[in-house]
Amino acid sequence: MPRARGGMSVRIACVGGGPGGLFLATLIKRARPEHEVVVFERNGADDTFGFGVVFSDRTLDGIHDADPVLRHALAEHGRHWDEIEVRIKGERLRCGGNGMAALSRRTLLALLQERAREAGAELRFGTEAQLDDLDGFDLIVACDGANSRIRQRYAEIFEPSAETATAKFIWLGTDYQFDGLTFIHERGPHGVFAVHGYPISDKVGTFIVETDEASWRAAGLDGFDPAQPPGVSDLKSRDYLQELFGERIDGHQLLVNNSRWASFHTRRARRWRHANVVLLGDAAHTAHFSVGSGTKMAMEDAIALSAALETHPGDLDAALAAYEATARPAVDRIQDAARPSLSWWEHFGAYHDAFEPWQFAFHFMSRSITAGRLRRRAPEFVDATLREWQRRHGAPPLHTPLRVGDHLLPGRVLAGPPEWATPVAAPQDERDVAAIVAAVPDGGAVAVHGGTPLTRTLVSERVRFGRGLPAILVDDDLDTDAALTVILSGRADLVASATATSEMNDAPTAR
Ligand SMILES: Cc1cc2nc3c(=O)[nH]c(=O)nc-3n(C[C@H](O)[C@H](O)[C@H](O)COP(=O)(O)OP(=O)(O)OC[C@H]3O[C@@H](n4cnc5c(N)ncnc54)[C@H](O)[C@@H]3O)c2cc1C
Repeated sequence: MPRARGGMSVRIACVGGGPGGLFLATLIKRARPEHEVVVFERNGADDTFGFGVVFSDRTLDGIHDADPVLRHALAEHGRHWDEIEVRIKGERLRCGGNGMAALSRRTLLALLQERAREAGAELRFGTEAQLDDLDGFDLIVACDGANSRIRQRYAEIFEPSAETATAKFIWLGTDYQFDGLTFIHERGPHGVFAVHGYPISDKVGTFIVETDEASWRAAGLDGFDPAQPPGVSDLKSRDYLQELFGERIDGHQLLVNNSRWASFHTRRARRWRHANVVLLGDAAHTAHFSVGSGTKMAMEDAIALSAALETHPGDLDAALAAYEATARPAVDRIQDAARPSLSWWEHFGAYHDAFEPWQFAFHFMSRSITAGRLRRRAPEFVDATLREWQRRHGAPPLHTPLRVGDHLLPGRVLAGPPEWATPVAAPQDERDVAAIVAAVPDGGAVAVHGGTPLTRTLVSERVRFGRGLPAILVDDDLDTDAALTVILSGRADLVASATATSEMNDAPTAR
């Protein structure tokens, strides 16, 4: 194990000049000007894919405290908003309390490059770095992105894994001006398509389109030759989407920048370090872009690594262990939160067809948060959803009667699964959901238990929408807030929960 020399100059190679590598170089050089930090970037200084990056206000304190570069970049060049808008079936639903900001990735990278250079890091563009060329460095940071070659080179040590989403996405831009984060859902002649759009400057917005594989193939969008060299965009897809969404963006243009369809890969690595090589940013982990956290995670890794090098001068092994111990828990939390969000995007076509706009928007907004927590952020949105339910059903969600066959139930919460429902065990693995739902017998209600919270919900939804059967979600740990979220969002018709039942029995009754 090479050892960093305490108090002496250490030579550090950052392989990759994305947000992770550049921020790391800045932080290390600012703290330790005597260290030598070289950033190797195979592309030119202003070649970049995609259009913008979005950040949630709530999550940026750590980054702003470490260095104001992002705060200044967002304030001077970015756009800020508070509401999310969902457009579907001719309606626009808005949900507040979602403070976010975005800016162009190119602008962010230019500012991070400037900052790193000012701090004294050496930036070598147009330079593809290979591990074998980096012998003289004490520390090699693999910040070489989601397809990290360094991670692959030591795959038997890092043990990387990748889960591939079934949905397809393409990253475009537009000269249409969005007010803030906007989701546009459209059922076209070949299937469902949805846009994640947001402004990144006063001229351009990001326009990411998602669809399912069947719609993608039906629309003939699978014809692009992926062997085309980087930089070549899929113009046929651009034209198709321009036509499909043209009216929704007032005839404005869609823009391309190395834009082609892909499936999102959620990546993890069992280990992040080996001798003097360490993974950082997308090379170590990715989380679905719908939670807008990839750049933030890469920058937070950089903070953790530079702090660990400071805390353990002269002991690289201890520093890298401390880095991993600090950075991993936050990454795990984000990846856990991203899972239901990614799943939502894998199934949005079914929700599009099953729900009216008010319930569709609530289902979307509650994909990884309960009604109670969402209400603290966006009381008007949740209250409007509750009013809409009450208008249709004449009672609050958990107290809305339901007839299932011969059984007239006074409300939506049961103490346990009733004997008249068919018990169905949800699988551990999402890939087995379809087979389990297909095996459910026709007629009668279904009580879904077991599996994971996500697979239970998916089985329940598919039983409701796909099979047209009443679904009972069985989970003794669901409290009344979680039970309300399940019913109001249409994820199940009933819940069976010991916790929710006792909370409802203990609640003071209105006189
Ligand atoms: C469609 C989509 C939308 C996204 N939207 C958001 C968003 O809104 N908000 C957000 O925070 N994140 C978003 N992300 C994620 C974000 O882009 C990444 O998480 C972030 O860029 C990770 O930074 P990084 O520095 O780890 O890697 P990267 O930004 O990927 O940088 C890695 C760099 O390494 C270089 N490189 C690779 N190998 C070598 C080599 N051998 N030698 C030299 N250079 C090399 C590459 O050219 C690249 O510049 C999105 C991702 C996708 C796919």
